[in-house]
Amino acid sequence: MSSAACIFCKIIKGDIPSLKIFENDKVFAFLDIQPLSRGHALVIPKYHGAKLTDIPDDSLTEILPVAKKIASATGAVDYNILQNNGRPAHQVVDHVHFHVIPKPNETEGLGIKWPAQ
Ligand code: C5P
Repeated sequence: MSSAACIFCKIIKGDIPSLKIFENDKVFAFLDIQPLSRGHALVIPKYHGAKLTDIPDDSLTEILPVAKKIASATGAVDYNILQNNGRPAHQVVDHVHFHVIPKPNETEGLGIKWPAQ
């Protein structure tokens, strides 16, 4: 299921360009267009739904392993995984997305190895 009006559905379809870093049958991941840190990525279900509670379990269970793979690929020691639901919770795009936000490590930097496989 996808939504014709949804910007992330357009990214999944390739109608809007993105810096894709991972894709399988249920999950798509790309670099955030306004990164909070180098390597800031978004992991999204291909299934369109605005909030976590709208997404089928078989899509959700595929997302965290991808977020883990991406966090690992950045080489960051410290990172945030964030997922916002609703305007008061700072959600701007109404297609579920998990942020992977690496925290720069002062001694090692970010040895990013894209693509995440
Ligand atoms: O969780 P929230 O909805 O606030 O975050 C949306 C994220 O989607 C932002 O970090 C924004 O930079 C990102 N974005 C993007 N590409 C777009 C539109 C939004 O990476 N075309």
